[in-house]
Amino acid sequence: MELAIADKITQKPAIKRNVYENVTQQFNKASDLMDLDPDIRKILATTTNEIIVHFPAIMDNGRIEMFTGYRVQHNNVLGPYKGGLRYHPAVDIDEVRALATWMTWKCAIAGIPFGGAKGGIAFDPSKHSFGEMERITRRFTYALNGNIGPEYDIPAPDVNTNSQIMAWILDTYLSSVTPQERNRSIHIVTGKPIASGGSQGRDKATGQGTVFCIEQWAKDKNFDLNNATYMIQGFGNVGSWAAKLLKPFGSKLVAVEDHTGAISNPEGIDPDKLAIYVKERKGVHGYPAAEPVDHESFFKTKADIFIPAALENQITAETAPLLNVKLVAEGANGPTDIEGDGILQEKNIDLLPDILCNGGGVIVSYFEWLQNKRSESWELEEVDERLRKKVINAYKKVKNTSQEFNTDWRTGAYIVALSSIQEVYRTRGIFP
Ligand code: GLU
Repeated sequence: MELAIADKITQKPAIKRNVYENVTQQFNKASDLMDLDPDIRKILATTTNEIIVHFPAIMDNGRIEMFTGYRVQHNNVLGPYKGGLRYHPAVDIDEVRALATWMTWKCAIAGIPFGGAKGGIAFDPSKHSFGEMERITRRFTYALNGNIGPEYDIPAPDVNTNSQIMAWILDTYLSSVTPQERNRSIHIVTGKPIASGGSQGRDKATGQGTVFCIEQWAKDKNFDLNNATYMIQGFGNVGSWAAKLLKPFGSKLVAVEDHTGAISNPEGIDPDKLAIYVKERKGVHGYPAAEPVDHESFFKTKADIFIPAALENQITAETAPLLNVKLVAEGANGPTDIEGDGILQEKNIDLLPDILCNGGGVIVSYFEWLQNKRSESWELEEVDERLRKKVINAYKKVKNTSQEFNTDWRTGAYIVALSSIQEVYRTRGIFP
């Protein structure tokens, strides 16, 4: 399967931590600090719908294989459920619950009218051909059936899924509605190919949002990005775009790790050249213009900025003490666990939390959704400018709230999200 490899990295620890526990602890900390209404707290502490589907797909050898897919809808009080679909062997119900919940907070912080959802299939896409990927994706879409919809729950790309996968979902979904419905349903997914109603700038959007946040942080700190050094974990969509977009500032990429290994070069690694290499070789391993390093040395790299852009639970009690950076800008969802967070704070490392720092993807998904509904297509400059405004606005809200509550930025970001959701429940109440 010729998927552009998205953010995937083999997690080193053999035991998979339960990421949903991270969400619960983050949520409890913020709820206590802001004194969240106890009734609203009960509602938000759990997901709304959890859909698990077991579905068959025909393999190239003519045999059937069964797959397990998920869609978890956390909350839709701010708007339709929204969030990506992940194809990865580590996908399970707790991971999808955690990712769905983070989507609710992310959309609330970004100020876009969506709730939170996430889904995926637990399998390894690298073991399947292009044709198998198509059949798996189409059968998954068919299995989800009425659980997704353009005004109800809108999927998008995530780890190991891309615009091609979205095109198959779109086509399968449209084939299931009446001919009259078809052309007003293309906002069933976002992150589509441009020719099928995708938005300019959606591909780079998450990396772009991360870089807008870093730029704003640098401005606040009077920190010069020219000649600054950065390291990245994960060189899929988010990591490679963030790397490429930092290059024009004169910043230097000094180390990269992905599921194939880690590389370092204190003189700088060219992100554009590395992206071409990774596309061909499916990983950073063996990149000629850098030295191979091990996992520990990668974490010990001296750099100004670290962008984790792979999977969850990478900055932990084991790895956080090794970090020698000024800022962690979370391009991935949930890259830092609770212990990792504590250590970053002790070490005075600044943090741009995921639910702020990687919101660019879903923000441009919202623009795509709007363009589809209005039968419009915006120029890249317009998309970028609108994205910049939304990201900077969110950044300022998180910064001010963290200061107001004298807390860390992750907790500040939660308080921004929870306050806006609380406001809606307060006035609307619950039925009956
Ligand atoms: N998967 C992305 C995320 O985690 C984008 C979701 C979307 O665009 O709906 O934010």
